[in-house]
Amino acid sequence: MANEMSAKDAAERMPQIMAWIGINANKRHRLDLSEKDVETLNFATEIVQAYADGRLVEVVHAHWAVVNTRKVCIKVACSWCGKAGWNFQHLPRCPYCGALMDERNDNNA
Ligand SMILES: [Zn+2]
Repeated sequence: MANEMSAKDAAERMPQIMAWIGINANKRHRLDLSEKDVETLNFATEIVQAYADGRLVEVVHAHWAVVNTRKVCIKVACSWCGKAGWNFQHLPRCPYCGALMDERNDNNA
């Protein structure tokens, strides 16, 4: 995530921001927030806190790119980290970087 603010910083600020806009007070109507707005802000706060706590991780999407072939073997490289292995094309995740191999490659896009 290209952001100078860390998830921990955001998680620490969210309760202050929520208090400021009056989520926990009876000032909700002052900002003309609907119940759905409040629900959305609380949900966003939970997500930021979960990310800061390490309960959510950023998923990297990648695909296998063929780099070499033999009679019955195919050497593929991870499009994210570039590391390669023979017959890795059946692995759902890169064993080196953990990228999820659910991205379409150039051949079947
Ligand atoms: Zn990888």
